[in-house]
Amino acid sequence: MGDITPTLQQYLNLFEELLQAPVYALPQIDKEAQLKPIIELLHNHHQFHCQEYNNITHQFDGPAKALDDLPFLAVRLFKQLKLSSIASHEVFKVLQSSGTTSQTPATLFLDRATSARQSKVLVKIMQQSIGKQRLPMLIIDSPAVLDKKNQYSARGAGIQGLAFFGRDLTYALDENMQPNWPVIEAFVERYGKQPVLIFGFTFMVWCYFLQGLVERGKALSLPQGILLHSGGWKKLEDQKVDNEQFKKTLDNLCGISQCYNFYGMAEQVGSVFVECEDGHLHCPVFADVITRDPYSLKICGIGQQGLVQSISALPTSYPGHSILTEDLGTILGIDDCTCGRKGKYFSIQGRLPKTEIRGCSDTHNAS
Ligand SMILES: [Zn+2]
Repeated sequence: MGDITPTLQQYLNLFEELLQAPVYALPQIDKEAQLKPIIELLHNHHQFHCQEYNNITHQFDGPAKALDDLPFLAVRLFKQLKLSSIASHEVFKVLQSSGTTSQTPATLFLDRATSARQSKVLVKIMQQSIGKQRLPMLIIDSPAVLDKKNQYSARGAGIQGLAFFGRDLTYALDENMQPNWPVIEAFVERYGKQPVLIFGFTFMVWCYFLQGLVERGKALSLPQGILLHSGGWKKLEDQKVDNEQFKKTLDNLCGISQCYNFYGMAEQVGSVFVECEDGHLHCPVFADVITRDPYSLKICGIGQQGLVQSISALPTSYPGHSILTEDLGTILGIDDCTCGRKGKYFSIQGRLPKTEIRGCSDTHNAS
């Protein structure tokens, strides 16, 4: 770790306090009161340590009245620029969002402290949904995804983050992304009668695992299974699969009724938005979303679809604390979800239309 400036020290102190806060219990007004100074400190920190961030945001002359006054970066900048707020010898991991094969990946520079913060927060958020026990874990991916040393794909990072909750980690797919049936069947045989955790990227669970079962005319019995899945719906939308159909198919083919989708970006590993029992994505205390009109970038009201701006209290090694995504979403309400969680809840409707349409076959490079 480099020199700790007074700004960074102040951030670290406030972040420690944030770690003690309940993940979903603060009303929006209290949560913003706690989050805003942290994001402001991150803004100052990155202005000081990242020349490009400073060039882009120097016109902002604060102080911000609210969280949504603070500057944000367009997500594509992480593909076009190497945005880092640390010296090269402090780089602990380089994370790459793989993107589709035709796209340049985003590159994120992590130091030990940011990486540790990401893991800690991911665990804290996920525990709210799946509890604290370590369960046998079936990963709907190929072990090849973790092959590269020190260079992590977003997929690999997601798996590594959630592996904390698992034991006897079992990979369900082989290197050709085909279901490894003997391995899957042995897992079900051994653990089918107890709680298990299953994790995969949404389209991989659908395309390779569930469709694989359909093609084989098979069903598995994992009635106490908990599925966590993430990674966007755009590929499933092409096949007209929505969340409801996904859940129904999962239940029919595997007997799994506990299924949590979560939304998160490779650029903000750790601060994820997990679906509640009512199917709404919730902002944890460490993160927030704002929706903006795609043309004017004005803030959208509740129920109005816009571009999602995602705010995360986590990254100090790269300026990823406030990012305007290319995802379209809608804030559904604040503090009043029927599940009882406080703060904002929202849904994602997909991407800004422009990307090429792909089927299931050649897409596993994307995540
Ligand atoms: Zn809810």
